[in-house]
Amino acid sequence: MMLDNALKLIKELTEHNYKAYLVGGFVRDYLLGRESQDIDVCTNATPKEIKEVFPDGFLPTDDYGSVVVNKYGIRFEITTFRKEFNYENHRKPIEIEYIDDLYQDLLRRDFTINAICIDEDGQIIDFLGGRDDLERKLIRTVGDADERFEQDALRILRAIRFATVLDFQLDTEVVEAVRKHRVLLKELSYHRKKEELDKMFVSGYAPRGIDMLLEYHLDKYLDLENLSKVENTDSLIGIWSVLNVEEYYPFSNNEKEMMKDIRKVMTLNNYDPMTLYRYGLYVNSVAGEMKGLDKKKITESYNSLVIQRRQDLDISSEDIIDCMKKEPGEYISDIYEDIEKEVLYHRLPNEKEKLLSYIRKNYASND
Ligand code: ATP
Ligand code: MG
Repeated sequence: MMLDNALKLIKELTEHNYKAYLVGGFVRDYLLGRESQDIDVCTNATPKEIKEVFPDGFLPTDDYGSVVVNKYGIRFEITTFRKEFNYENHRKPIEIEYIDDLYQDLLRRDFTINAICIDEDGQIIDFLGGRDDLERKLIRTVGDADERFEQDALRILRAIRFATVLDFQLDTEVVEAVRKHRVLLKELSYHRKKEELDKMFVSGYAPRGIDMLLEYHLDKYLDLENLSKVENTDSLIGIWSVLNVEEYYPFSNNEKEMMKDIRKVMTLNNYDPMTLYRYGLYVNSVAGEMKGLDKKKITESYNSLVIQRRQDLDISSEDIIDCMKKEPGEYISDIYEDIEKEVLYHRLPNEKEKLLSYIRKNYASND
């Protein structure tokens, strides 16, 4: 189904007398029977010519001149055949040259399994032995691994990522080159590193990926000093909170807050009503899971809390102010915290009259 639409798209290019092929992740995943998010297309049409065929196509700012076309509910990334020269900082080619030849374009690609093509008739074109490597479950570079990793250090991480996600082995030459060039990982942006690590960590084979990172001592060059402490891999945010690298790696404020809470809750008793109440079910579940606690029991304890949030108290801040007969002030949150605690630990029923008389008795007379 997705393939039919993909073939329709490349036919639009071939009907305009351009060469066009499906390539990269989609072809790889299609042959493996895996689903793909988006589809990579390569062509001898230049970006300008691609946009003439697909007027809605656009060039995303963070990309390397691929035209993106959204069609049939699919995102197509259409890239002109190219040669790349002079990589800068072991990452980006400074110079590219558009070319007319598919084979030459495949030579600049990272791994053989990513260099298999499908033409407009659905025929597979495999110049570099990618299908054999798919069958052998092998990550092998196009060309000399040593040279390819030195050109672009991101390929080191991509090798580990593909081996993890697909449960493949690294070719021995790749392993050697990973070890030799691992120090270059330091030059990659944390944004790129995180993209690859996220894909590894959400994979069903995350533990294997982590073992590989440790085995090749990449943790140090990725600033992941805590990697060996990751025990449970069921939650992405849980893994990152153990890694404790928010000062380097990019996260939203919300995520940072959550990771801080998870680390805090790791040190607390997850069945304590106050811990459950203050940090909520999600943070407690993630932290509990990492401690090997029963998630169901945590959920049950959470659901049996007398109150789960302040609004659940049978009293409002107006009630407190009325009762105190005072201008609103600091005292409101002090009182709230006190009665929350009393109610959570069943020392006080969550009933308006009882709560008000508690406040009168403990607070109102003091003034
Ligand atoms: P996925 O989309 O599942 O992450 P992918 O293989 O499609 O995997 P993309 O980043 O979409 O990865 O890249 C598309 C293709 O471009 C790759 O399959 C590969 O042929 C080529 N490619 C991507 N990044 C590099 C790189 N750093 N060096 C060489 N070739 C690359
Ligand atoms: Mg892709």
